[in-house]
Amino acid sequence: MAEANPVMTPKKDELMADDIHEVYAIRYGHHSRRSPANFIDGDPHDILQPLDFFVWAIVGPSGVIVVDTGFDEAMGKKRQREMIKPVRDGLAALGIVADSIKAVIISHMHYDHCGNYDLFPEARYHLQDREMAYATGRCMCHQALRAPFEVEDVVVMVRKVFSGRASFHDGSGEITPGVTVHHIGGHSKGLQCVQVKTRRGYVVLAADATHLYAHIDGGRVFPITYNVEEVVEGYETLKRLATSPRHVVPGHDPLVLRRYPAAKPGLEGWVARLDAEPNYN
Ligand SMILES: [Zn+2]
Ligand SMILES: [Zn+2]
Repeated sequence: MAEANPVMTPKKDELMADDIHEVYAIRYGHHSRRSPANFIDGDPHDILQPLDFFVWAIVGPSGVIVVDTGFDEAMGKKRQREMIKPVRDGLAALGIVADSIKAVIISHMHYDHCGNYDLFPEARYHLQDREMAYATGRCMCHQALRAPFEVEDVVVMVRKVFSGRASFHDGSGEITPGVTVHHIGGHSKGLQCVQVKTRRGYVVLAADATHLYAHIDGGRVFPITYNVEEVVEGYETLKRLATSPRHVVPGHDPLVLRRYPAAKPGLEGWVARLDAEPNYN
């Protein structure tokens, strides 16, 4: 993979470490909306504050791990979300063949994080006990709680359990040395984040544990929330797991693609390299 930021010189021991990973954010979708839609209690500024939709790829000595699988064109239409580039194309832009992926981490089972069922026929899916219990239990009797879920997504995940392709985690768990998952909850009962050891320290893929930088920075809460206490406590967990606040990567913030360099020339606005130093200016 091309060096995206030559200024970042890894220390010698890091170069030899076999648990250092590259991390990429791959944008696949977009939703234009105004800021009051992004916060409990709304937003007095009422500015344009769109969401981007991402999947993430972690590349290391044991292969490629994909974090979340996004939605496909049909689901984008159904949910009135704009599909920018299919997830398969984003992975291909990094030279990653979806068919060969062995491990997928599912942050949570909302429609924008666990679709594209057929893309990863070889993969084992890693999720939290609590997310599957939540998505198949009594809470789904209530429209207010099931709204961000799609029954087919849930059924397909149940089928993966029965075909021996699911691995469950309860709290924290290791996927491979240098890559761990951590239960957050809050936004969805079994939401988990991913901590990745990289050349610039521990990067944390927050997924929907913070949709935007504005949520974690301001202690504000996205309207889709199972438990507000877990959301705000989750911000502290993200900061604890990350080397610095600048190592926390929000799940839906268009700023990610402005703050991090493109993975390689030609991928600007599409694929960013998260183990490179961000630019917050
Ligand atoms: Zn979500
Ligand atoms: Zn989401």
